[in-house]
Order: sequence, then C-alpha cells, then structure tokens
Amino acid sequence: MNTFARTFHEAARRQTADMRQRDWIQTTLAGYYTRRDEFKNRFQSWSAACDMAAAIKWEAVNHLDRYLDELVEKLEARGTKVFWSPDAQEARDYIVGVARQHQVRSIIKSKSMTAEEIHLNEALAQAGFEVVESDLGEYIVQLRHEPPYHLVFPAMHLTRQQISDLFHDRLGSEPTNNPQELTMIARRVMRRKYCEADMGISGANFAIAETGMISITENEGNARLTTSLPKIHVAIVGIEKVLPKLSDLALFLPMLATSGAGQPITCYNTLYGGPRQPGEPDGPEEFHVVLLDNRRTELLADAEQREALHCIRCGACLNVCPIFKNVGGHSYGTTYQGPIGSVITPHLRGLQDWKHLSQASSLCGACTETCPVKINLHHHLLHNRRNAVRARPVFREKLLQITFASVMRRPALYQFIARLARIAQPLQRLVQGTLLDPLRAWTKTRLFPPLAAKSFREQWRERKAP
Ligand code: SF4
Repeated sequence: MNTFARTFHEAARRQTADMRQRDWIQTTLAGYYTRRDEFKNRFQSWSAACDMAAAIKWEAVNHLDRYLDELVEKLEARGTKVFWSPDAQEARDYIVGVARQHQVRSIIKSKSMTAEEIHLNEALAQAGFEVVESDLGEYIVQLRHEPPYHLVFPAMHLTRQQISDLFHDRLGSEPTNNPQELTMIARRVMRRKYCEADMGISGANFAIAETGMISITENEGNARLTTSLPKIHVAIVGIEKVLPKLSDLALFLPMLATSGAGQPITCYNTLYGGPRQPGEPDGPEEFHVVLLDNRRTELLADAEQREALHCIRCGACLNVCPIFKNVGGHSYGTTYQGPIGSVITPHLRGLQDWKHLSQASSLCGACTETCPVKINLHHHLLHNRRNAVRARPVFREKLLQITFASVMRRPALYQFIARLARIAQPLQRLVQGTLLDPLRAWTKTRLFPPLAAKSFREQWRERKAP
C-alpha cells in the first residue's frame, strides 16, 4: 500500500468512528435534499434537461480544439491576455510573474477549485504575496489552514460554534452563535481587503466560446468585488469549462444552482469579457485568462473516460455518496473529493498513486443517478480499477482470483469447501475479532454473515426426494 492509500485509510477509519461529525454532515445535507428536489420539480422535465446538458457538454468536449480557439480569439480581441498553461507549474509561474511585474502588494481571491488544484495560494505565499479568500467558506478554511471539505461547501464540516471560536481566536471578535453576525465579522475584514488589493483572482464556472466570456456564479457578491475593484483580474480556467453558446447558460446556470446548492438560481451571475473598455466607468485595467490543461488533454484522448470532462463541479455526487458522507472530504487528500474526485484524480495525478480511490465505493450508482450531466461515475470507477490491475497486477489479488476460478470450475471441490466452512463457522464465532480469527480484518467491526445450514444443492435434492 502506498503512502497516499495508507493516509486515506487511516483518515477514513478515524472519520468513520467520529459519530458527531457524521451526524453533523447528515444534518447539513438534509435541508439540501429537500430544496434540491423542490427546485428540480420546477423544471418541466429534469430528466430531459439532463439529457440536453449532457449533449451540450459532449459537443463542447468532443470539439474542444475548435471552441477553445473561438473563445481565445474573442477574448483577445477585447484586450484580454490569454495564457495556455500545459501544467500546474507553468500556471503558478505565470500568475506569480504577473503579480511581480505589477509590484502587487495584496491579492484577493474568490472561490476556485482549479486554483486549489494547482496550489496557487501556497505558490503566491512562497513568493511573498498575501492572498485572502473572499468566499466566506473558503475564508473560514483558510483561517484554519485547511483545504476545502467539499467542492461547493468548503466549510460544511464546521458548526457555528466552531466558526465563532475561530473568529474569536483569529480576529478577536466577540463569540456569537448568530449566522448573520458571523457573516458581518468576516465582511468587515473583507471590505478592507477589497479596497487594498491590487490583484483579484477568480476561477470560472463556464467559458462561452461564442462570445469570448467567462461566467461566474456565486451567492455572496464576493466574486464581483474580487474581479472588479483591483486593477488586475486573473481568471484561472480549466479547458473543459467551455460551452459553445451564450444561450447554453439558460440551462446550465439554474441546473448548477439546483444540483449544487438546492437553489433555483444563484444570487449573482456575471459574465466577464475583457478589461475595462474606453468609456467604461469600472472594471480591471488588465484581464488575464489562464487556460489550464494539467493532463486534461490526456483524459480527452481516452475515449472511454473522456466524459469525466463533462463535470460542472456541482458537488451533487458527493452529497449522495455513502462513502463521502462517512469518511468526509478531508480523508481523500485530493482537491476534488467524492465520486468525481475518485474518477479524475488518478488521471490528474497518476493512476498507481491514486488507484485506491476507485475502491472507496460501494458501486451503488447513486452518484451516476444524481449527476446532472449524466456522467457514468460508478462505471468509470470500475474502469479505473481495471486499468490499475492491467497496468500493475497485484500478486495477492491475482492468486485469489485464480483460486476462486479453479474452485468455482470444480463443483465437487466447491461442495467440499462449503461443508468445511459450515463445520468451521462455530469455531470462528468463538474467536471472532481476536488474533486467532482468520477473518479478523472483516470481523473487527462487523459480524461475518452466517452460512446457510444447508446448501442449495442439498435443499434441492431434499425437495425432489419423494
Ligand atoms: S460528476 Fe456530475 S454530480 Fe459530480 S460534481 Fe460533476 S457534474 Fe456534479
């Protein structure tokens, strides 16, 4: 087992035993389920909307070269500086370079999982720049020096009390359990930062090829302030975020809000098409778009799994995943958690290091069922398992499969072993969970299911007997 797998197993075991945390996650998600279902019903047909969204994403991803060229041409025509970044390092270097060139003193940043993916904050901090997260949830986890817990709800694992204690310790505020007061405490800090910042960094929810614009959807208005007050705006955009037409947003914005947060639509939806134009009263003097590949084109080349690039990062698959709800977001040790994270992380960071994530699934298919763009998530987990075994067979697993196959091919041997197992089971019960138990890896935390007193063949023979 490699270090990543061992860390995951240890964290998962710890989190699974934490009943308080598991109850809290269930409580947080209960309201989401109700609202999500209510707003799904506002669509004339949610299932037809999902078919349409999947078709649009298929078109975009399967003609990515054309749509990206169109996007870049239109962005550049309005004075945007576009940087094609093949990997995380080049993206970080470019953004640090822009900050240095403009002698930036302070940076404000709105929520971006793509920036998390390339560890942008750490790179900027190492280069001597102060970066403050402007999304409330992100700001909270930043103060705790933690990564986001969830794609959409970064601080969902924390109670109001914990947030109040955090603000008290780090910002010197009075303790309060009132969510509005907690928001106002963060807002007071944030307003000052917006005015001081020379550079604003954002992600993008979508990039519209037809008009050469990026679309950001949010609830707090923080992304608008982040992108419009500082004199430089840098948007980091995964290349898969492209949509062909502006009218596609009419479907994707309400769909993302419904699946992601159980809302009919988010409060602020903004399109950014370039720096401030002559005669415009506000907006940044410079607008940079960093188009990030970071192994996405390798995934694109895989015809079997390229649909994983359809993901709109709504987080709905996490919210229904029994593994995510029990092990929690931090156990994964990845930028993208839950089913979609388990599917794409082996592609983004290496199959052999991250293949254990494909085993973190009961294959119940709840993720696939809920995905608004119809990504066949649990089948992709199976594909990852298969690819990992093909690339590097595990001797123990292989031996187990050969033994299993040879027993199943010999009915007499199978019956003999089944009889032995029935005789041995009472003994196993006596030593259950102890060091003498050969099944203790399983029985440490649960009972081994009892074997039937009689096999199917024996019962069949008895039935047929006169
Ligand atoms: S895989 Fe589907 S459900 Fe999961 S985050 Fe992406 S779009 Fe949402």
